[in-house]
Amino acid sequence: MCTLLFMATSFLTPGPSELYYTVADHLKVALREHVCEISHRSKAFQQIMAHTTAQLRELMGVPDHFHIAFTGSATEIWERILQNLCAETSFHLVNGSFSKKFYDFARQLQRKALKYEVPLGQGFWPHEIDVPAGTELLCLTQNETSTGVTMPLADLATLRQKYPHLLIAVDAVSSAPYPAFDFAQFDTLFFSVQKCFGLPAGLGVWLFNDRCVAKAEQLAAQGHSLGTYHTIPSLLSNLQKNETPETPNMLGIYLLGKVAEDLNRRGIKTIRQETDYKASLMYHALEQHPQLSAFVGEPTHRSRTVVVANVLGRPAADLLALAKAQQIIVGSGYGSLKDSQLRIANFPTHSKEVFEKLADLLLAS
Ligand SMILES: *Cc1c(COP(=O)(O)O)cnc(C)c1O
Repeated sequence: MCTLLFMATSFLTPGPSELYYTVADHLKVALREHVCEISHRSKAFQQIMAHTTAQLRELMGVPDHFHIAFTGSATEIWERILQNLCAETSFHLVNGSFSKKFYDFARQLQRKALKYEVPLGQGFWPHEIDVPAGTELLCLTQNETSTGVTMPLADLATLRQKYPHLLIAVDAVSSAPYPAFDFAQFDTLFFSVQKCFGLPAGLGVWLFNDRCVAKAEQLAAQGHSLGTYHTIPSLLSNLQKNETPETPNMLGIYLLGKVAEDLNRRGIKTIRQETDYKASLMYHALEQHPQLSAFVGEPTHRSRTVVVANVLGRPAADLLALAKAQQIIVGSGYGSLKDSQLRIANFPTHSKEVFEKLADLLLAS
């Protein structure tokens, strides 16, 4: 199987996904430059951190009052956000497995976790959301990877207007850097790198603003535990030296900087246009096919980066096998929807050609 999967295979899986096409070359250079061997307290590593941070700021338009910290995963960031930004009450918009897990973490950490939940395949309408007074933190998943539901950026703005005093946390794991986020609309945003950035897993990226810093300091002053090493104050004091509290995933941080630089060279506008093109192509193919349809009914809630399709009249596995025979690995449905859905990742590394090939293949099936 390994030899069959080798080389020309495209991984249109939502995560891990296909490596960005420059990663292999960057890896070779990283080994030559001893990126895994240098001290994480050295000038050389501090320069790597500074480079990665600067490239991310440019790519995503991150303003100065947002800090960029690194963790082990996005899953870890769910926990850190709850520990650092919420002493009692969090409110969660739940519409799939990932948003549900964020909510579950809050309960496990013994917060008073409230949720507003809609059925799988549906998104949210901001005017229907009612966050009770006394809530500290609103948690939402901008792109729910399990169902392919997205939250339009205008809705982030509406929620911000409606709840200016809430801290708002945005899970952008399977959308960043595609959305042109306005950083005034939330206080913290995070992602991991094995999705849209096309990198090996094992690195979470946590962006938080000065309101988050103030909240964490306030909780600490009141005697709340913020956790141990990855607290906002500890991350921040290390960031001031371009360092991390622990020995971090230096290779991951290095590769992220290199790929972000490649994406900047390509231009975020071009990347967004290509993403839109590929998404339209795939949704169009789903409309044409008698046995396929978009899982998300509301067009404005359809994710551009994770396209989820219902398969009628035959097992989804048939289509997965058909694509695999053409060296295209498509994601299966999530959880209970495994047998009846396809999930197609649409990330910067996925070419227009592979999308055209997959659309043709599906249409001919
Ligand atoms: C994949 C994913 C996560 C978890 O990311 P890890 O890197 O596995 O921790 C969280 N949220 C969303 C929306 C995801 O797609």
